[in-house]
Amino acid sequence: MRVAAKILTAKSSASPRPKAAAGRTKTARTERNCSVARTLDIVSDAWAFLIIREAFFGTQTFEAFRAALGIPRATLTDRLRKLTQLAIFRQVASGSSQRKEYRLTKMGFDLYPSFIALMQFGDRWLSKGEPAPLTLIHTTCGCDSHPDVTCSHCGESVGARDAEYRDGPGAGRCLAKEGRNTRRASDGSRFLLGRPSSVSRALEIIGDKWSFMVVREGFFGKRRYDKILNELAIAPNILTDRLNRLVASGVFRRRQYQSSPDRYEYLLTDMGLDLYGPFIAMLRWGDRWLSKGRPPLILTHLKCGHDFEPSVNCERCKKPIIAADMRYRLAYDPKSFGALGPRSVD
Ligand SMILES: [Zn+2]
Ligand SMILES: [Zn+2]
Repeated sequence: MRVAAKILTAKSSASPRPKAAAGRTKTARTERNCSVARTLDIVSDAWAFLIIREAFFGTQTFEAFRAALGIPRATLTDRLRKLTQLAIFRQVASGSSQRKEYRLTKMGFDLYPSFIALMQFGDRWLSKGEPAPLTLIHTTCGCDSHPDVTCSHCGESVGARDAEYRDGPGAGRCLAKEGRNTRRASDGSRFLLGRPSSVSRALEIIGDKWSFMVVREGFFGKRRYDKILNELAIAPNILTDRLNRLVASGVFRRRQYQSSPDRYEYLLTDMGLDLYGPFIAMLRWGDRWLSKGRPPLILTHLKCGHDFEPSVNCERCKKPIIAADMRYRLAYDPKSFGALGPRSVD
Protein backbone atom coordinates (compact mmCIF):
# COMPACT_ATOMS: atom_id res chain seq x y z
CA MET A 1 0.00 0.00 0.00
CA ARG A 2 2.65 2.43 1.07
CA VAL A 3 4.67 1.50 -1.98
CA ALA A 4 1.76 2.29 -4.27
CA ALA A 5 1.17 5.71 -2.79
CA LYS A 6 4.85 6.56 -2.95
CA ILE A 7 5.18 5.39 -6.51
CA LEU A 8 2.17 7.25 -7.70
CA THR A 9 3.25 10.52 -6.17
CA ALA A 10 6.93 10.23 -6.93
CA LYS A 11 7.10 12.17 -10.14
CA SER A 12 4.14 14.45 -9.77
CA SER A 13 5.85 16.40 -7.01
CA ALA A 14 8.61 17.34 -9.45
CA SER A 15 6.20 19.24 -11.65
CA PRO A 16 3.71 21.06 -9.48
CA ARG A 17 0.26 21.40 -10.89
CA PRO A 18 -1.03 24.89 -11.53
CA LYS A 19 -2.82 26.09 -8.44
CA ALA A 20 -6.48 26.67 -8.80
CA ALA A 21 -6.45 29.70 -6.54
CA ALA A 22 -6.80 32.28 -9.28
CA GLY A 23 -10.03 30.96 -10.68
CA ARG A 24 -11.29 29.36 -7.52
CA THR A 25 -14.10 31.11 -5.79
CA LYS A 26 -17.10 29.77 -4.00
CA THR A 27 -19.07 29.78 -7.22
CA ALA A 28 -16.38 28.61 -9.66
CA ARG A 29 -15.12 25.21 -8.66
CA THR A 30 -12.28 23.69 -10.63
CA GLU A 31 -11.24 20.10 -11.06
CA ARG A 32 -8.16 18.29 -12.25
CA ASN A 33 -8.10 17.65 -16.01
CA CYS A 34 -8.65 13.92 -16.15
CA SER A 35 -9.34 11.55 -19.00
CA VAL A 36 -10.96 9.07 -16.63
CA ALA A 37 -13.41 11.74 -15.46
CA ARG A 38 -14.23 12.60 -19.07
CA THR A 39 -14.89 8.94 -19.80
CA LEU A 40 -16.98 8.52 -16.68
CA ASP A 41 -19.06 11.53 -17.61
CA ILE A 42 -20.36 9.29 -20.37
CA VAL A 43 -20.51 5.79 -18.89
CA SER A 44 -21.53 6.75 -15.34
CA ASP A 45 -24.98 7.53 -16.65
CA ALA A 46 -26.55 4.15 -16.00
CA TRP A 47 -28.87 4.24 -19.00
CA ALA A 48 -26.10 5.30 -21.37
CA PHE A 49 -23.91 2.53 -20.04
CA LEU A 50 -26.65 -0.11 -20.42
CA ILE A 51 -27.37 0.99 -23.99
CA ILE A 52 -23.69 0.78 -24.96
CA ARG A 53 -23.44 -2.64 -23.33
CA GLU A 54 -26.43 -3.95 -25.30
CA ALA A 55 -24.84 -2.58 -28.46
CA PHE A 56 -21.76 -4.73 -27.74
CA PHE A 57 -24.16 -7.70 -27.75
CA GLY A 58 -25.36 -6.72 -31.21
CA THR A 59 -28.49 -4.68 -30.40
CA GLN A 60 -29.07 -1.99 -33.01
CA THR A 61 -32.68 -0.83 -33.11
CA PHE A 62 -34.79 1.33 -30.84
CA GLU A 63 -37.27 -1.46 -30.18
CA ALA A 64 -34.54 -3.99 -29.44
CA PHE A 65 -32.93 -1.65 -26.89
CA ARG A 66 -36.35 -1.13 -25.35
CA ALA A 67 -37.04 -4.85 -25.17
CA ALA A 68 -33.65 -5.64 -23.64
CA LEU A 69 -33.70 -2.90 -21.00
CA GLY A 70 -37.34 -1.99 -20.36
CA ILE A 71 -36.22 1.62 -20.65
CA PRO A 72 -38.89 4.35 -20.99
CA ARG A 73 -39.28 5.59 -24.57
CA ALA A 74 -38.47 9.23 -23.85
CA THR A 75 -35.36 8.24 -21.90
CA LEU A 76 -34.16 5.95 -24.67
CA THR A 77 -34.74 8.64 -27.29
CA ASP A 78 -32.79 11.12 -25.20
CA ARG A 79 -29.82 8.81 -24.55
CA LEU A 80 -29.57 7.63 -28.15
CA ARG A 81 -29.57 11.25 -29.27
CA LYS A 82 -26.84 12.14 -26.78
CA LEU A 83 -24.70 9.11 -27.61
CA THR A 84 -25.05 9.93 -31.31
CA GLN A 85 -24.02 13.55 -30.65
CA LEU A 86 -21.00 12.24 -28.76
CA ALA A 87 -20.15 10.12 -31.84
CA ILE A 88 -20.37 6.86 -29.88
CA PHE A 89 -23.23 5.80 -32.15
CA ARG A 90 -24.01 6.69 -35.71
CA GLN A 91 -27.46 6.39 -37.21
CA VAL A 92 -27.92 4.39 -40.38
CA ALA A 93 -31.02 3.70 -42.41
CA SER A 94 -32.13 0.10 -42.08
CA GLY A 95 -32.70 -1.44 -45.50
CA SER A 96 -35.43 0.25 -47.49
CA SER A 97 -37.55 1.17 -44.48
CA GLN A 98 -37.59 4.48 -42.65
CA ARG A 99 -36.35 2.75 -39.56
CA LYS A 100 -33.04 3.86 -38.16
CA GLU A 101 -30.43 1.62 -36.69
CA TYR A 102 -27.81 2.66 -34.18
CA ARG A 103 -24.33 1.36 -34.88
CA LEU A 104 -21.32 1.82 -32.67
CA THR A 105 -18.66 4.02 -34.24
CA LYS A 106 -14.95 3.28 -33.97
CA MET A 107 -14.94 5.50 -30.88
CA GLY A 108 -17.86 3.51 -29.45
CA PHE A 109 -16.26 0.12 -30.12
CA ASP A 110 -13.09 1.40 -28.52
CA LEU A 111 -14.93 1.52 -25.16
CA TYR A 112 -14.99 -2.27 -25.25
CA PRO A 113 -11.62 -2.83 -23.53
CA SER A 114 -12.72 -0.57 -20.65
CA PHE A 115 -15.87 -2.64 -20.24
CA ILE A 116 -13.80 -5.82 -20.30
CA ALA A 117 -11.43 -4.44 -17.64
CA LEU A 118 -14.43 -3.56 -15.45
CA MET A 119 -15.90 -7.00 -16.09
CA GLN A 120 -12.71 -8.74 -14.96
CA PHE A 121 -12.75 -6.67 -11.79
CA GLY A 122 -16.41 -7.56 -11.18
CA ASP A 123 -15.72 -11.25 -11.82
CA ARG A 124 -12.84 -11.24 -9.37
CA TRP A 125 -14.40 -9.33 -6.51
CA LEU A 126 -18.16 -9.10 -6.83
CA SER A 127 -19.45 -12.48 -7.97
CA LYS A 128 -20.06 -13.69 -4.38
CA GLY A 129 -18.79 -17.16 -5.17
CA GLU A 130 -21.16 -17.67 -8.07
CA PRO A 131 -19.93 -18.43 -11.59
CA ALA A 132 -19.23 -15.35 -13.71
CA PRO A 133 -22.30 -14.37 -15.77
CA LEU A 134 -20.25 -14.40 -18.95
CA THR A 135 -17.25 -16.34 -20.12
CA LEU A 136 -15.19 -14.62 -22.80
CA ILE A 137 -13.98 -16.67 -25.71
CA HIS A 138 -11.22 -15.09 -27.75
CA THR A 139 -11.68 -16.38 -31.29
CA THR A 140 -8.17 -15.27 -32.26
CA CYS A 141 -6.69 -18.04 -30.09
CA GLY A 142 -9.83 -20.06 -29.38
CA CYS A 143 -9.38 -19.92 -25.61
CA ASP A 144 -11.51 -18.85 -22.69
CA SER A 145 -9.93 -15.51 -21.97
CA HIS A 146 -9.35 -13.46 -18.83
CA PRO A 147 -7.87 -10.31 -20.34
CA ASP A 148 -5.26 -8.24 -18.48
CA VAL A 149 -4.52 -4.56 -18.61
CA THR A 150 -1.00 -4.53 -20.00
CA CYS A 151 1.83 -2.22 -20.98
CA SER A 152 1.82 -1.36 -24.68
CA HIS A 153 5.61 -1.37 -24.64
CA CYS A 154 6.53 -4.71 -23.03
CA GLY A 155 3.16 -6.50 -22.98
CA GLU A 156 3.36 -7.34 -19.26
CA SER A 157 0.36 -6.72 -17.03
CA VAL A 158 0.27 -3.42 -15.14
CA GLY A 159 -1.00 -3.01 -11.59
CA ALA A 160 -1.23 -0.03 -9.27
CA ARG A 161 2.11 -0.91 -7.75
CA ASP A 162 4.14 -0.99 -10.92
CA ALA A 163 3.23 2.20 -12.72
CA GLU A 164 3.93 5.83 -12.01
CA TYR A 165 2.71 8.96 -13.67
CA ARG A 166 3.71 12.48 -14.48
CA ASP A 167 1.84 15.45 -15.90
CA GLY A 168 1.21 15.33 -19.62
CA PRO A 169 0.66 18.22 -22.04
CA GLY A 170 -3.01 18.41 -21.08
CA ALA A 171 -2.39 18.67 -17.31
CA GLY A 172 -4.00 21.47 -15.36
CA ARG A 173 -7.42 22.27 -14.06
CA CYS A 174 -10.68 23.22 -15.64
CA LEU A 175 -13.89 24.66 -14.34
CA ALA A 176 -16.09 21.98 -12.87
CA LYS A 177 -19.25 21.56 -14.88
CA GLU A 178 -22.31 22.79 -13.06
CA GLY A 179 -24.98 20.31 -12.25
CA ARG A 180 -22.61 17.39 -12.47
CA ASN A 181 -21.56 15.08 -9.69
CA THR A 182 -24.64 15.70 -7.63
CA ARG A 183 -26.26 12.38 -8.30
CA ARG A 184 -26.99 10.21 -5.31
CA ALA A 185 -25.08 6.96 -5.11
CA SER A 186 -28.35 5.10 -4.64
CA ASP A 187 -28.88 5.49 -8.39
CA GLY A 188 -26.27 2.74 -8.66
CA SER A 189 -28.92 0.04 -8.49
CA ARG A 190 -30.08 1.04 -11.96
CA PHE A 191 -26.85 -0.39 -13.35
CA LEU A 192 -28.21 -3.84 -12.45
CA LEU A 193 -31.15 -3.68 -14.86
CA GLY A 194 -31.23 -6.14 -17.72
CA ARG A 195 -28.87 -9.08 -18.01
CA PRO A 196 -26.61 -10.16 -15.13
CA SER A 197 -23.27 -8.47 -15.59
CA SER A 198 -20.01 -8.11 -13.71
CA VAL A 199 -19.54 -4.72 -15.35
CA SER A 200 -22.83 -3.61 -13.83
CA ARG A 201 -21.78 -4.89 -10.43
CA ALA A 202 -18.52 -2.95 -10.69
CA LEU A 203 -20.33 0.22 -11.76
CA GLU A 204 -22.87 -0.16 -8.99
CA ILE A 205 -19.99 0.38 -6.58
CA ILE A 206 -17.79 2.88 -8.42
CA GLY A 207 -19.89 4.05 -11.38
CA ASP A 208 -21.11 7.09 -9.57
CA LYS A 209 -18.56 9.64 -10.64
CA TRP A 210 -17.73 10.93 -7.18
CA SER A 211 -16.98 7.43 -5.97
CA PHE A 212 -14.55 6.87 -8.77
CA MET A 213 -12.93 10.27 -8.22
CA VAL A 214 -12.36 9.37 -4.57
CA VAL A 215 -10.72 6.11 -5.69
CA ARG A 216 -8.61 8.09 -8.16
CA GLU A 217 -7.32 10.29 -5.34
CA GLY A 218 -6.38 7.05 -3.57
CA PHE A 219 -4.24 6.13 -6.58
CA PHE A 220 -2.67 9.59 -6.37
CA GLY A 221 -1.69 8.88 -2.77
CA LYS A 222 -4.32 11.06 -1.06
CA ARG A 223 -5.46 9.27 2.10
CA ARG A 224 -6.94 11.87 4.37
CA TYR A 225 -10.39 13.34 4.32
CA ASP A 226 -9.19 16.97 4.18
CA LYS A 227 -6.80 16.30 1.30
CA ILE A 228 -9.47 14.54 -0.75
CA LEU A 229 -11.99 17.25 0.09
CA ASN A 230 -9.57 19.91 -1.03
CA GLU A 231 -8.59 18.14 -4.23
CA LEU A 232 -12.11 17.37 -5.40
CA ALA A 233 -13.98 20.43 -4.15
CA ILE A 234 -16.73 18.01 -3.17
CA ALA A 235 -19.46 18.79 -0.64
CA PRO A 236 -18.39 17.38 2.76
CA ASN A 237 -21.57 15.36 3.23
CA ILE A 238 -21.16 13.74 -0.19
CA LEU A 239 -17.52 12.90 0.50
CA THR A 240 -18.46 11.32 3.85
CA ASP A 241 -21.22 9.35 2.16
CA ARG A 242 -18.94 8.08 -0.62
CA LEU A 243 -16.10 7.15 1.74
CA ASN A 244 -18.53 5.24 3.96
CA ARG A 245 -19.94 3.40 0.96
CA LEU A 246 -16.49 2.59 -0.41
CA VAL A 247 -15.39 1.24 2.97
CA ALA A 248 -18.58 -0.83 3.20
CA SER A 249 -18.00 -2.29 -0.26
CA GLY A 250 -14.38 -3.15 0.53
CA VAL A 251 -12.60 -0.68 -1.77
CA PHE A 252 -11.05 1.28 1.12
CA ARG A 253 -10.22 0.44 4.70
CA ARG A 254 -10.24 3.04 7.42
CA ARG A 255 -7.24 3.40 9.71
CA GLN A 256 -7.01 5.63 12.72
CA TYR A 257 -3.89 7.77 12.64
CA GLN A 258 -4.61 10.09 15.55
CA SER A 259 -6.64 10.01 18.74
CA SER A 260 -8.40 12.82 20.67
CA PRO A 261 -9.59 14.09 18.37
CA ASP A 262 -9.86 10.80 16.50
CA ARG A 263 -8.78 11.04 12.88
CA TYR A 264 -8.78 8.40 10.19
CA GLU A 265 -7.19 7.86 6.85
CA TYR A 266 -8.49 5.79 3.96
CA LEU A 267 -6.29 3.16 2.37
CA LEU A 268 -7.06 1.26 -0.80
CA THR A 269 -7.48 -2.46 -0.12
CA ASP A 270 -6.25 -5.12 -2.55
CA MET A 271 -9.69 -4.92 -4.13
CA GLY A 272 -9.39 -1.14 -4.42
CA LEU A 273 -5.93 -1.41 -5.95
CA ASP A 274 -7.35 -3.85 -8.49
CA LEU A 275 -9.49 -1.00 -9.87
CA TYR A 276 -6.29 0.33 -11.38
CA GLY A 277 -6.75 -1.75 -14.53
CA PRO A 278 -10.23 -0.38 -15.35
CA PHE A 279 -9.00 3.05 -14.28
CA ILE A 280 -6.18 3.21 -16.82
CA ALA A 281 -8.25 1.48 -19.52
CA MET A 282 -10.78 4.32 -19.22
CA LEU A 283 -7.95 6.81 -19.05
CA ARG A 284 -6.64 5.57 -22.36
CA TRP A 285 -10.07 5.90 -24.00
CA GLY A 286 -10.48 9.45 -22.70
CA ASP A 287 -6.96 10.30 -23.86
CA ARG A 288 -7.61 8.90 -27.28
CA TRP A 289 -11.02 10.37 -27.96
CA LEU A 290 -11.58 13.34 -25.66
CA SER A 291 -8.22 14.96 -24.93
CA LYS A 292 -7.49 16.47 -28.37
CA GLY A 293 -4.04 14.86 -28.42
CA ARG A 294 -3.08 16.43 -25.09
CA PRO A 295 -3.26 13.71 -22.43
CA PRO A 296 -3.34 15.07 -18.85
CA LEU A 297 -1.22 12.19 -17.54
CA ILE A 298 1.68 10.18 -18.92
CA LEU A 299 2.08 6.68 -17.47
CA THR A 300 5.41 4.92 -16.99
CA HIS A 301 5.70 1.18 -16.47
CA LEU A 302 8.31 0.61 -13.76
CA LYS A 303 9.09 -2.96 -14.85
CA CYS A 304 10.27 -1.95 -18.31
CA GLY A 305 10.96 1.72 -17.64
CA HIS A 306 8.99 2.97 -20.63
CA ASP A 307 6.06 5.31 -21.01
CA PHE A 308 3.11 3.24 -22.12
CA GLU A 309 -0.49 3.17 -23.20
CA PRO A 310 -2.68 0.71 -21.35
CA SER A 311 -3.79 -2.14 -23.59
CA VAL A 312 -6.37 -4.76 -22.60
CA ASN A 313 -4.91 -8.01 -23.90
CA CYS A 314 -5.90 -11.67 -23.96
CA GLU A 315 -3.80 -13.32 -21.25
CA ARG A 316 -3.32 -16.40 -23.45
CA CYS A 317 -2.24 -15.05 -26.83
CA LYS A 318 -1.33 -11.49 -25.67
CA LYS A 319 -3.29 -9.89 -28.52
CA PRO A 320 -5.37 -6.76 -27.78
CA ILE A 321 -9.03 -7.50 -27.12
CA ILE A 322 -11.49 -6.08 -29.64
CA ALA A 323 -15.24 -6.64 -29.68
CA ALA A 324 -15.28 -8.32 -33.10
CA ASP A 325 -12.98 -11.13 -31.90
CA MET A 326 -15.06 -12.12 -28.91
CA ARG A 327 -17.73 -14.75 -28.40
CA TYR A 328 -19.58 -15.33 -25.18
CA ARG A 329 -20.73 -18.28 -23.14
CA LEU A 330 -23.52 -17.25 -20.83
CA ALA A 331 -24.25 -18.55 -17.37
CA TYR A 332 -27.86 -17.31 -17.63
CA ASP A 333 -30.80 -17.74 -19.95
CA PRO A 334 -30.47 -15.02 -22.61
CA LYS A 335 -34.17 -15.27 -23.51
CA SER A 336 -35.09 -13.53 -20.27
CA PHE A 337 -33.02 -10.50 -21.24
CA GLY A 338 -34.09 -9.52 -24.73
CA ALA A 339 -32.60 -10.57 -28.01
CA LEU A 340 -28.96 -11.48 -28.09
CA GLY A 341 -26.81 -10.49 -30.98
CA PRO A 342 -25.00 -12.62 -33.49
CA ARG A 343 -21.82 -12.82 -31.47
CA SER A 344 -23.15 -14.97 -28.65
CA VAL A 345 -22.73 -18.71 -28.57
CA ASP A 346 -24.53 -21.47 -26.61
ZN1 LIG B 1 6.24 -2.27 -19.82
ZN1 LIG C 1 -6.33 -14.92 -27.12
